[in-house]
Amino acid sequence: MQVLILFGPPGAGKGVQATLLAEELNLYHLEPSKIIEEQIMKAAKGAFAEIKGKKYFLAKEKKFWRTGKLCSAEVISFWLENKIRELAKLGKNLLIEGAPRTLTDAERIIPVLKDLYGAKNIVIIFLEISPQETLWRNSHRRICQLMRHSILYSSETKNLKYCPLDGSKLVKRKGLDDPATIKIRLKEHREKTLPLLKYFKKEKMKVKKIDGSLSPAEVFKSILKTLG
Ligand SMILES: [Zn+2]
Repeated sequence: MQVLILFGPPGAGKGVQATLLAEELNLYHLEPSKIIEEQIMKAAKGAFAEIKGKKYFLAKEKKFWRTGKLCSAEVISFWLENKIRELAKLGKNLLIEGAPRTLTDAERIIPVLKDLYGAKNIVIIFLEISPQETLWRNSHRRICQLMRHSILYSSETKNLKYCPLDGSKLVKRKGLDDPATIKIRLKEHREKTLPLLKYFKKEKMKVKKIDGSLSPAEVFKSILKTLG
């Protein structure tokens, strides 16, 4: 059993690589942002998650999410841990994209993963990319309405109006991909997510650094190479 964790700033191309890797290596693509989006979207008025006796109101989480801030770490890791246990029980190999995002996440999720999958079977792929590149990429990104496929901006895709995979309309993500919001997301990443590299080191976990500024095909090739 195997777990790959894709790590890197917003716009590093985690979504594209995750899709490619999940397919190539037959991994279950676990995407916390999707779990969060689902939970928040389906939340009824006044709904809350109760974790260790404390109530977390989902309307508040939705506001965080909408404005580019991270949802409460407790809530995210709670949803995520439940999902991981469920998938491990089914014998699924995992590809985790975009988690852990904070030290609280990591301290909760990494021990669970180690316990279920074994420390030596967990590999962290760190996609490195500059903040300028991130800003540019995110402000040009569109997603499809139906499946939320992410369409990167390029000369081949700039005139596309519909998703090549399912035919649904391509739209900009409201709020999340505005430059101001991206700047907040980058700051959150720098302050809350990057420090995780120290944690991974302390835990003696395998971290593989990959240059994320190359084309998706080249990045994919170098990830496969580094995995041997
Ligand atoms: Zn699509």
